Amino acid sequence: MKYVDEFRDASVVDRLLEAIRRRTTRRRTIMEICGGQTHGLLRSGIDAALSDVVELVHGPGCPVCVTSASLIDRAIELARRPNVIVTTFGDMLRVPGSGESLVGARATGARVRAVYSPLDAVALAEKNPDDEFVFFAVGFETTAPATALAVLHANRRGIRNFSLLSAHVRVQPAMEAILAAPDNRVESFLAAGHVATVVGYESYADLCRRYRVPIVVTGFEPIDLAAGILACVEQLETGRAAVENRYGRSARSEGNRHAVRVLEQVYEPCDREWRGLGKMPGGGLRLRDAWRRFDAEHRFEIFTPAAAESSVCRSGEVLSGRIKPHQCPAFGRECTPDRPLGAPMVSSEGACAAYFHHRPDAGPQLVEITSR
Ligand code: SF4
Repeated sequence: MKYVDEFRDASVVDRLLEAIRRRTTRRRTIMEICGGQTHGLLRSGIDAALSDVVELVHGPGCPVCVTSASLIDRAIELARRPNVIVTTFGDMLRVPGSGESLVGARATGARVRAVYSPLDAVALAEKNPDDEFVFFAVGFETTAPATALAVLHANRRGIRNFSLLSAHVRVQPAMEAILAAPDNRVESFLAAGHVATVVGYESYADLCRRYRVPIVVTGFEPIDLAAGILACVEQLETGRAAVENRYGRSARSEGNRHAVRVLEQVYEPCDREWRGLGKMPGGGLRLRDAWRRFDAEHRFEIFTPAAAESSVCRSGEVLSGRIKPHQCPAFGRECTPDRPLGAPMVSSEGACAAYFHHRPDAGPQLVEITSR
């Protein structure tokens, strides 16, 4: 398959791994931001192959994983109302809120539907004018332009029974929070190529300069990942800190101008609660005042008690790279993809699911954690 097969050539990957090995003078700590990259690294075995020279720390770039329990509780509260149908992506259905998940709520009468795109939710609203359709909008800057377009489309068609419960998150505030933490170990980032394809990567320059941290935009295939790690190592070994694009087949510094325009037309940054990580200043996107009539939190009065996080699940430490999934005592025991305790074990991009599927040898590995 064009743009895929040529980035999976094992002999090229081996040469890149060898170059990384030759170039490193000490073990480096590099964080891949995106859950898709985490799965790619584990599936290809790159993380294990480099473990003596590079520690790959898994970042918080799984939007389903960082959606707060209280937002899921809100979606469930809405779905239990007689005339409201909550729609969302399939990944979101099994993630537990403070108690049940959306799919669990559906089993006891809540009206919840999985859709492939926010425009599907708009179409449902248009066909069923007597019901209210709420799209539970989850995702980073990659999916936010699509939900922004859904709002513009609903507005153009005069659809009044469609709204969004926005759980959209922004990646850069999370990167900054990781770098600013007193116990941060991350020396360099692999930034997600699809986010850069949408919003560009020129805005990383400020973060890169302030924290003197190399940021390399790359993709998800083995050659992308190995080339990205090599670029990080080259910069670290020569004392440089720059933003570098290793995903040139898709990402441009300015991003997709149309997507950025739509995003800015409909959304503005806001503070947002990230699951396991707490309140992230500027870490979310909410609808601008001009689009408030499409904001479910404005349209409905939603009452949910403050949501408590699971006392067992250590997703906050996993998502901030403080522990690896198999270092959580529940990994593979009480918590499996069939019986998940936390979102990183549910989501197809979650780090815990990645370890469960691609590192069956990992097993639970209990460690003394001091940063809890
Ligand atoms: S293994 Fe399960 S309980 Fe542990 S951090 Fe991951 S999702 Fe949470």
